[in-house]
Parts: sequence; C-alpha cells; structure tokens
Amino acid sequence: MKFRSLFMLSFLISASLFTNVNMAESSWPGEPIDDHIFMSYLALTQEVNIWADENPDIVELSSIGQSYLGRELWMVVLSDWSMETKINGDAKEMVYIDGGHHGNEYLGTALAWLTAKWYINEWNAGNDEAVNVLQNSELHILIMLNPDGNDADTRHNLNLTTAANPFVSEVVPTGIDLNRNYDHYWDDCAPSSPFAPGSGPFSEPETRANADYMNSYMQDADLYVTMHTGVWIILYPWGKWPEQPSDWELFHGIRTEINDEISDIPIQNANQGLYPNCGTSRDYGYGVMGFPTFTFETDDDQFLLFTFEDVNDRLREELDVMRYLIENVWYWRARLSVTNLDVIPGNSLTISVENLGRATTLNASLQYANKITGEILWESGSKFAVNATNVSTVTFDASNLTLEEDAGFVLYYQKRVIDSSQWVKENVSDNLTNIRYEDKNAFLGGTLIFDPTAIILIFLFAAYWNKRTY
Ligand SMILES: [Zn+2]
Repeated sequence: MKFRSLFMLSFLISASLFTNVNMAESSWPGEPIDDHIFMSYLALTQEVNIWADENPDIVELSSIGQSYLGRELWMVVLSDWSMETKINGDAKEMVYIDGGHHGNEYLGTALAWLTAKWYINEWNAGNDEAVNVLQNSELHILIMLNPDGNDADTRHNLNLTTAANPFVSEVVPTGIDLNRNYDHYWDDCAPSSPFAPGSGPFSEPETRANADYMNSYMQDADLYVTMHTGVWIILYPWGKWPEQPSDWELFHGIRTEINDEISDIPIQNANQGLYPNCGTSRDYGYGVMGFPTFTFETDDDQFLLFTFEDVNDRLREELDVMRYLIENVWYWRARLSVTNLDVIPGNSLTISVENLGRATTLNASLQYANKITGEILWESGSKFAVNATNVSTVTFDASNLTLEEDAGFVLYYQKRVIDSSQWVKENVSDNLTNIRYEDKNAFLGGTLIFDPTAIILIFLFAAYWNKRTY
C-alpha cells in the first residue's frame, strides 16, 4: 500500500508538472519518465474503472484473469448496450484488440488505450462514426496483458522461476516472453533461446487467460489486432513461415486500401517483415482461431525528456488505421448473398451467389433443411468457391431433392480460406427461390447437359476491389 500511495503521489505531481495539457476527457493517464511515456497498472486500473462508472451505456469492465503476480487483466468491452443486436436483428460484429504483451512497449499499449478512449469520447460527442460502430459492433479491448512487466519496464512477464524458462541461465532468470508462449508451433523457430518461450505452450497465466477469452467469447470475431512497439509496421500472418497466408487476398486488399487512403505504414507478412517468430498471439489468432489478425507495431520514437506530446497527436495516424479496420469489420470475411435460386425439383438446382466480403470461401455448399428441427434433408453433392467480391452461378444435380413443408435452403460455408476459420449457416430467403415443376423427360431431351457434379461459372466482374473514400 505504501508503494501505491507513494506512486499515486508521484503520479499526481508529475501529471500536474508535465502536463499542462488538459487532464479532462482525452488525456493520457500516464506520465513521462526519462524519454518515454509510461502508464502504470494502477493508473490504468483507475482509468478503466472511471470509464465504466461514467459510461454504463457503452462500457462493460471485467477482469479475465490475473497476471503472474496477481494483477487483474482488465477487459473493456464497448458497445451500445441498449441493443443486444443490430437494428436489423443480426448479431453485432466482434472485434478483438489487445496491447501490452511486452511490458516495455508503451506506445503499443497506448494505442490500445487510445482506441478505446476514442470511441468513448466520440460516442459521448455524438460522432456518427463512433455511434454507428458501437451500435453494430462489440469492441473487446484488453489494454495491458502484461501489467507485471509493464510496471517493471521489462519485455517479459515476471515469472522468474528458472523452471518456467529453460532457455536462460539459472543465475539470471528473465521471465517469459508472452508473445512466444501461444500454442501455435510453440518454440518451433530457431533460435528459441533469446525469446524465452516458457516451459510449454500457455505455461503463463497471462497468455492462458487471453486464449481462454478468445475461445470462450470471441469465436465470431472478424478482426484481431495485437499491439506492440518497435519498428513502425503492421504484420499479418505468418510469423512461422515466409509464405503468404491462405487469405492473402484479404490481407493484401487491406494493405492496398490503408496505403492508398490512410497511411504509408509498411504492411507485411511477419516472417519477412520482421523475422521468423513462433508461438505468437498473431499466428495463434489466425492459425487456431481463424481471425484476420494483425500485429500493429508503433515505432519507438517516444518523447524527449520533459516534453509530453499529447498521445492523441502522437498516435493520430495509427488511430486512423485502427478506425478503418474497425469500421469495416463487416467486410473482413466471405459474405455470401444469394441473388437467385432456381429449383426444378427432382432435376436440377441453380444458385447465383454474390460474395460481398473481402475474403474468399472455398468449400461452400447448399443444404435443404427443416426450419424447425434443422434436420438436413438434402445437400449439394459438390462444394463450390466464391472469390472475394465476385459472383458465382452454380448448377447442382437435384434428382434426389424433394420439397417439403417447413423446409428451406441454407448456405453452409467458411468465413475465410484458412482451415480454422469459422463455418456459418445462413438461410436463403424464400423470396429468392423460384420453383419450377417441369416435364423431366422433355427437359433432359433438350440441349442442356448437366455435369453430375457441378457447373461453376465465375464472373470476374469485380476482380479488383471497389475503391472507396474515407
Ligand atoms: Zn512486442
């Protein structure tokens, strides 16, 4: 307690000395120390509790676990809590953000803080973008994953047992690098020793809590950004491999839009843009959870002694990139939309599908299911693909399809190409379904011949992304 009181006193003094900028709405709750800014765990704890107390309409605060030394891992969830769903009844979009894996990367942690703060401030100011985002999305933001390392100004957590870290000297245990501790090719990049990946995947309470939260609450997320500080760069998967990820089309499209419209920040595959790295939260987020995942690295140019540039100004361009990624989260998956469905029962079925999303889907199928029990009564014999922003028209053999009361068509597909991406089932509106009963013999006697698998016609009418303005 004594330490905390002293710390608070020094915090208040330094804040009043060094920050003649306002301490009101948008001010950074940290302080400048030496040549960088610093927000203690205590300052963060006070700040997020104030957010929750003052903004119950949009802020939910919880702790998802404790650090190695028992500090809370605060999760701030932002959304318009007067609505459980979007206005049209659809589930809200889910966004996951974390900061502070590495305790000495303050500007990355600050960017996570600033992102949350921007939506709170702008919601209260009635900003259309913020209101729209919070009505249609949930932003789950864990600002400081490594509070022990943060307060000790060190990269690793403070698990100093040598047993937990077989890669360091017994004399000088260094803690664990949390961003090498995830269960995705853990400790599978050489050399491992500088990175202190822990005694096994998820050996550390911080990473375990983070992964538990992803698996429990964020399965539907279509964006995960993890924030660090080092070289000014945005990294997408993989860290493990130099090859481009399965959803390269999505990542490259986002890169083009950011670089054309918002920022010149380099955006690269992590393995090539940085160096090979394994067991990271980014590769876990994409390879295991199936999220579109980015590591956002702010640069390391912090502040000169006794200068305290407002964090809003310092990270404005980075915040603009975050706002773009969040505002457009609806697009970061395949979004199949049926435009027409012609059914000739006992004969054939032709479906026209648009992909409104920016990711490709490869293994889509059409099902016919009982609307009450969900029982699948028929399924297209072959899978089909729809590239990002393209359309497909597919004809299936429907000789064994019999229409029933209380049944309807359902699209079943993966949101992205990566194996781990989520499968979705989406009803096809009955209004789009045209049923024609034809004389089977007369029809087959005509010139049309159906491939027993499928005929796939892909119209590349939108091979390039539509440019939009911001
Ligand atoms: Zn880092």
